[in-house]
Amino acid sequence: MQQPIEVDLAVIGGGINGTGIAMEAARRGLKVLLCEQGDLAEGTSSRSSKLIHGGLRYLEHGHFRLVREALSERERLLQMAPHLIWPLLFRLPLADSQRPAWMLRLGLFLYDHLGRRNRLPASRRTRFGDSALHPRYDDGFEYADAWVDDARLVVSCARQAARDGARVLTRHRCSDARRDGSHWRLQLTASGTPNTTLAVRAQALVNAAGPWVESCFKDTIKRPSPHPVRLVKGSHLVVPALSSSPHAYLLQHPQDQRVVFVLPYETDYSLIGTTEIIHQGDPATANVSDDEVDYLLQLVNRHFVRQLGPDDIRHHFAGVRPLLDDRADSLTAISRDYLLELDAPATEAPLLSVFGGKLTSFRALAERALQRLAPHLTTPLREPPERLVLPGGDFDNQRQLYRHYRHRYPWLPMRLLRRWVRSYGTEINLLLGDARHLEDLGALIGADLYLRELAWMRQQEWAHTAEDILWRRSKLGLRFSAAETSRLIALLEQPVDL
Ligand SMILES: Cc1cc2nc3c(=O)[nH]c(=O)nc-3n(C[C@H](O)[C@H](O)[C@H](O)COP(=O)(O)OP(=O)(O)OC[C@H]3O[C@@H](n4cnc5c(N)ncnc54)[C@H](O)[C@@H]3O)c2cc1C
Repeated sequence: MQQPIEVDLAVIGGGINGTGIAMEAARRGLKVLLCEQGDLAEGTSSRSSKLIHGGLRYLEHGHFRLVREALSERERLLQMAPHLIWPLLFRLPLADSQRPAWMLRLGLFLYDHLGRRNRLPASRRTRFGDSALHPRYDDGFEYADAWVDDARLVVSCARQAARDGARVLTRHRCSDARRDGSHWRLQLTASGTPNTTLAVRAQALVNAAGPWVESCFKDTIKRPSPHPVRLVKGSHLVVPALSSSPHAYLLQHPQDQRVVFVLPYETDYSLIGTTEIIHQGDPATANVSDDEVDYLLQLVNRHFVRQLGPDDIRHHFAGVRPLLDDRADSLTAISRDYLLELDAPATEAPLLSVFGGKLTSFRALAERALQRLAPHLTTPLREPPERLVLPGGDFDNQRQLYRHYRHRYPWLPMRLLRRWVRSYGTEINLLLGDARHLEDLGALIGADLYLRELAWMRQQEWAHTAEDILWRRSKLGLRFSAAETSRLIALLEQPVDL
């Protein structure tokens, strides 16, 4: 009989909320195990619009608590992970707006003042003088939010959790979870090998399965979900850069009042999104439809001088939001707020479930999750150390860090260094180890991925497949040829060699 792994807290789900909770719990001294059925961030957390934002448009639905918390979090997260999260200036053209200018000005005034704002400039009315836009969209507002590398944020939280002793098991599905008095007994099934199972015994359980939260109740915990969720799909398109400016754009649809972002992406591209469509069935089956492509391209073509067709799409992805069904009239009006549901009958092991939420609020959500669980744990929570900085995030300014490394490692190609600053921050030193010349990074696999970085992703970041590497640890999939991808796949069959 296999001995179960004994932990204080078991977390189901390796998206931003599961890894955030695991990180906070490990930091507070708990013995933690996190299981993810696929790759870290393979669910919604790598398919977002990649913004750390208050959500300007949530104001018009009166979701002030959410916006206030998100704006404060924005400020904290900019400090916590300056390599993965950085300021982004938005242009919001006024033409076509069904919202009068005074209403937008009021919304932006609230946005500027609802939360703490030290690092970002205030909004302003301006003429853009932007040659990428049709001249009729020249008048509008500029305001600031922040960009995030969503998938790497998740990996970074998992690394921090592991540093604090958490066990992170990717490609392990929690197939069964049952209460056994004061403990949970879980069964984890390794993917691809149905006979390889692990037993876990945990004092407390967290269901952070994102859009699978209901199915996790039904299939794994085998009890009805306490709340219904509406699965709402959002799709994004990646096209060659629509503008050479570093600005993002918030476009307003002239008919349906929705807004669509056009975001600078991976230096040479623009990211366009998103849509909102009810999704039925397994979230893993969500895909970008032709109607969504038409909808997004039409709106973008209305605003930008360069006209796009379906052939310009280099990549696309769809994600599914698990929204709490608050019976709002429209999908846009459903709250993006989260709910933590605690089920803790006396003398029985507690279960905490996460419904909804945003990338932006993950840290606050994790803190609250631990506060809710604390009274039901026999292991006391340690006072958290003062300021949490994610691995590689102990610096202030990306430009200064780039200059520092440029001086220190002049042999690193500039494009590679720019990408590394935004992926690894100060961990570039660890990644480089004793390398002193470009040849020390090993063979070039494709784009600017060398063997040394591949080994790092495999050893330090739980990367196993080409997709993990090309679309979540990096976005090098945009630059890899088919032959380079085949080469990568062949290399992944060999053991890691650093
Ligand atoms: C189109 C779109 C755009 C968005 N844009 C933004 C944005 O710009 N800013 C923002 O702040 N938020 C945004 N969001 C919201 C944000 O992306 C999500 O709220 C967040 O990623 C949800 O994270 P999660 O950890 O709850 O879920 P997920 O990331 O889906 O993670 C849940 C994980 O649980 C795993 N899992 C499920 N069942 C099991 C099981 N039985 N055993 C083991 N593992 C299991 C899944 O594989 C999955 O990886 C967006 C969402 C969408 C859909």
